[in-house]
Amino acid sequence: MTEKTIFKRILDGEIPANIVYETDNVLAFHDVAPQAPVHVVIIPKKEISKLSDSTNDDTQLLGELLQAAREIARSFSVDESGFRVVINNGQAASQTVFHLHVHLLGGREFTWPPG
Ligand code: AMP
Repeated sequence: MTEKTIFKRILDGEIPANIVYETDNVLAFHDVAPQAPVHVVIIPKKEISKLSDSTNDDTQLLGELLQAAREIARSFSVDESGFRVVINNGQAASQTVFHLHVHLLGGREFTWPPG
């Protein structure tokens, strides 16, 4: 059996998180090592390791993750100033937690291209 990810442990209530948004299918909480004044991690409750492991059956769920980003950006008042949404997919993209997640970053200026 593979070990639970840290995000699955948060979902299961085994470790605490600072939750900012929750629906039947999605949970979002502050990143423990924030890279911006607003840094929220948005996860599906369904266990999907990474974006490239999602399927067409997950179309609705993937949309819900972006809807959550929109609503959370609004709730932290960064929707008008601008914010960044990031999904790291796999090793080359520096994904470290293998439970699909969307980073919502805001509250500062961002440069492009990213590192
Ligand atoms: P990634 O590199 O895209 O896999 O991002 C994983 C993110 O999860 C990083 O930004 C971590 O700081 C964050 N993280 C790891 N453990 C926790 C935790 N227990 N609570 C909140 N965020 C976490």
